[in-house]
Parts: sequence; structure tokens; C-alpha cells
Amino acid sequence: MKKIISIVTYLLSPIKENSIFFVFMYLLGVLTFMIETVTLNFKIPRFNFLSLVVDLYLLCLILIITPKRIRPYLRFLFASVAYVLSVVDVFCVEMFKTKLGPEIVNVIVETDQRESSEFLSRYINIDVLYSSVGLILLLLVIHLLVCYYWSAISSRLYAISWVRYCYVSNYIRMAVLMLIILCFGFCLDSRWTLVRMLNARDLIEIDGCISNFSENTPFNNVLFALKLRQLADAELGVLADNQKDVTVDSCSFQSDKIVLIIGESYIKCHSQLFGYNKETTPKQVERAQGLGSGLLFPFYDVITPFNLTSIVFKNMFSLHSVEDTTNWAKFPLFPVLFRKADYKVFLITNQFVKSIKTDNFDTSGGLFLNDSRLSNLQFDYRNTMTHRYDEGLLHDYDSLRKYEGDHNLFIFHLIGQHIDFYKRSPDSWKKFSSLDYTDRKELSEAERQIVADYDNATLYNDNVIDCILKKYEMEDAIVIYMSDHGDECYDELHRMGRLPGGSDYSPEVLRQEYQIPFWIWCSQSYIERHPIIIERIRMAQHLPFMIDDLPHVLLQLAGIDSSFFDESRSPISEQYNARRVRLINGKCDYDMALKGSRISQ
Ligand SMILES: [Zn+2]
Repeated sequence: MKKIISIVTYLLSPIKENSIFFVFMYLLGVLTFMIETVTLNFKIPRFNFLSLVVDLYLLCLILIITPKRIRPYLRFLFASVAYVLSVVDVFCVEMFKTKLGPEIVNVIVETDQRESSEFLSRYINIDVLYSSVGLILLLLVIHLLVCYYWSAISSRLYAISWVRYCYVSNYIRMAVLMLIILCFGFCLDSRWTLVRMLNARDLIEIDGCISNFSENTPFNNVLFALKLRQLADAELGVLADNQKDVTVDSCSFQSDKIVLIIGESYIKCHSQLFGYNKETTPKQVERAQGLGSGLLFPFYDVITPFNLTSIVFKNMFSLHSVEDTTNWAKFPLFPVLFRKADYKVFLITNQFVKSIKTDNFDTSGGLFLNDSRLSNLQFDYRNTMTHRYDEGLLHDYDSLRKYEGDHNLFIFHLIGQHIDFYKRSPDSWKKFSSLDYTDRKELSEAERQIVADYDNATLYNDNVIDCILKKYEMEDAIVIYMSDHGDECYDELHRMGRLPGGSDYSPEVLRQEYQIPFWIWCSQSYIERHPIIIERIRMAQHLPFMIDDLPHVLLQLAGIDSSFFDESRSPISEQYNARRVRLINGKCDYDMALKGSRISQ
């Protein structure tokens, strides 16, 4: 019996030696789960509380085998990480109605220094303390106080007879150990899944683990997200290797100068061109009415398949379509095809310039644009600096023009209407103020100002685009404008920002976040020289389209023939398949969901 007791005592020693740490980390886990449950209104997986015991026991085990002089520091490190992750998790739950997971980690990693400071100044304020985050911080304060006064607290606790009994009772010890063993038994499968997931060799293998992986503590979620990113990096290698074998059969150079302008976070219903009741795009409207040089053709039914820049860019640059089951990295990127066809390709971006920092640690959108091998395969020339406002790109364009060849593809990539909206337009373009929205009674004064800021950014964007178009008025040029995705700015729903993809397919979310402005502008010379294309464009203005198939439109305009080119995916082709099912996030049938019926499986 004595031997059993000593084994039990030995096995419980990791917890006994780190008792305060164990108790407070458990309370932290429970508090975090409870806040998630109440705020998100979902059921906690039943083994969450048990798996927490297992994880904490293993952490205490690591602590106890660590040399005594290092142990307090390591314990401090573990606790700090846990509190930080819980605070971030609860903050995300409160603000964005989502837990700390791959999407949030992606957004954090994708956010550059400028965006981070803007984000922090917008969301982090004293109000945060009065939210659930305050509860986590309160627990932290109690934890610190208990650590500080532990000798006084422990002697008082020990003076209470039943506490003393619990502390010395062998029965209690055995019961606790039994409980821990039971926890291990229940969680064996999920811990094994975690190990398999961390050892996964590709994204498909990870997919197989997700359904078994229910105990999503913030720590496990971050591990999961980082693993996803590591695999995404590996994907870059596959992507680069596949570009080498890409071939072009022929090229008619149908259009000498093709320009693609990629906007950012542009909510279609804030565009006057598409029916907004404020004058946010007067210059685009004029051009669509035939005033000025050239003509602008709005497309009225265009959507994006995702609402996260990086995933949109992957699908928009690759000839991969959302419904293709083969990995996107196995498909050619359209700039590579253009270069192989002997077009000069220029990238003029206000987001993804190459730098030492971004080379290794930028967004997955920026990643495949900035990776040295892939950048060299895709672009002949690119700008090297971002600018506070998008008009800075006009100077970049002017300085790169000397490198133009006989046939050119220019890709402009704007910061557009990216959060923080009021920073997207200079003071001279701030025409709207909260006073212009007094009819929006449901909004506070501050919220009305945010809408005004968004509209000012849209108005300024209209001017930047107009300046770009002016550069091509005297040329034989065709320009396509589109945004990567929409956003929320107190329109149909009382909130701003974007929801993690897949969490909501309501018509309101689809309209704000997935519908995008899309138009084609042709210079006067282009209109005269390409009557057939102009006719095809006119006929396509009301056709449904999703921008993962944009490369096919560009290839058709250039007249590039390749085995990957599919005319049925280009709305300006007679072969266009207008009956294509447009899947949001690869899952939700957009047209059906908007009409309020089924979501495809
Ligand atoms: Zn974006």
C-alpha cells in the first residue's frame, strides 16, 4: 500500500509543484470557453474541460523535469502565452464573432505595420476593459495577487480542517489521479489527431484531421493555424515548379495594351455607378455615359468567390477555378502565360511590394507575388515602394513606362477602401461628413462618420482610377477594373469588417462582402479597332461572372492560346457558360443562397 501511495504521490507531483499555475490555467481555460459559448451561442465540445486537464498536466510535467532555477521563468512564459492567447481569442469573439483560428492568424500575418497600427487604434480602447476581455484581465490580476501573497494565503487555507484533510488524504490523491487517468483516456484520440495534424505533409491531410479535432483551445488553434501557413509555404515551391513547364501555343496580340486595376474592399452598393444614392463615382458615371474619351461598360452581376485577399488572389491569378479539385498551385499563373506569349508584364502595387520583411513573412497573396522565383517568372518590372495614398502609384507607372514593349500587361493593385477608411483619402477629398447621413437614424454619430469616411475613400478612389484611365486615353488600350472583395460598413447589417469565410451565407453578407464592382473601359482607338470585342462586351454586361475565371478573359483579350485557356469561362466569348454554379468559398451556391433557398453540399 505504501508503495502505491508513493507512486500516486509521485505521479501527482507535477501538479502539486505547480498548483497555482495549474488551478489558474484551468480557470482561464474554463472562462475562455464560457465566454466563447455565451457570445457565439454554440455548444462546448464535451471533452474540452477534460482535454484541458490533460494539456495542463503535460505542461506541469515539462515544468517539473526542468531544472529548478529555470522553472519559474518557464512557468511565467507558459502563463503569459496562455493569457495573451485568451485575451486575443476573447477579443476576436467579442469584436468579430469568431474564435482565434486560421482566418484570424491569416489576417494578423497579412496585416502590415501600417494596417496594424490603424487596427489597434480603431479597436483597442478603454471600452475593451468593459467587455469580456476585462474578465480575463481580472483573472490575471487575481492570479498575480495569489502568487504574491501565497505564503499568507496557504497558511490560512491549511488552518481550515477540511482543506488540510484534502491535502493529506491518500484517498483524495488517488481519486484525483484516477480522474486524470480518465481524462487521458477520453482525450487519447483527439491528442493523437493533434500529433497527426502537426505532422501532416499537405493541406489535404490536414483536412482529414479537422473533423476529429474538436478541442479547440486558443493554443491548439494557433498551432493549427501556424501549421497551415507552413504547408502554404510548401505550396509555393509546388507553384513555382509548375510554372516552368507552362507553354503558350500561339498569340495573336489582339490587344496591345491590357490594364488590370485591382481594387480593395470595395462595397458595390457604395458605388454610384451601381446605383448608390451618393455621388461617390461621378467620373466613372460620366465615362459610362460616354462623356469624355473612350467608354466604360459596367458589369452588373459579378462576384468574388472569397472575402479574404490572399485566397482571392490565388484563385484570380491562377487558371484554377473554384470547382477544380486539383490544387491551385498546379495551374499556371496568368502573368506567366503573358510573359511566355511575349507580353511585358508590370505590377504596380500599393500593398505587396517586395522587401526583406515581406519576402518571407507576408500574406499568402503577397507571398506568391513576392517570392523571388515566382516574382521573376511573373513580372518584368514592378514598383518598389508603397504609398500613403493610391495616387502615388501614378508616379510609379510614369517611371516604369520607359520599359514598355510592343505588347504590355499592366496590373495596378490599389489599397482602395481598405480599413481604416478615413486614412484612404487626403483631406482635400473629404467631401462627405456625418451630416450627410442624418437620415440613418439607426446609426450613432461616430458610425455615420465611418460611413462618410468610406464614401470619401470611394470618391477619392474614383479620382485615382480616372487618373489611370487618362494615361491610356490616347492609346489603343483596354482596362478592366474589379475589387478583390466587398466589406461591411453599416449597410444592411449593423456592423463593419468582414466575417470569416463560410460563417454566414445570408443574402445581406453575400451582397456586402461578395458582390463586387466590375467594369471594362476601352479607349477611343480601341473601340474603333476592335468592334467585335466591343460588341461581345456589351452583350456580357448582365451575365453572371465570378472573378476566379478572370484569367480566361485576359487571355482572350490578348489572343493567347494555351491548353489551360477555356473560352467557356470568359463572359466575352460566345462559348461562355453563363449557367456555371458560382460557389462561394467552394461551398455555397451564390445564386441560390441569394434567393433564400438551398446551399449546395
Ligand atoms: Zn482585400
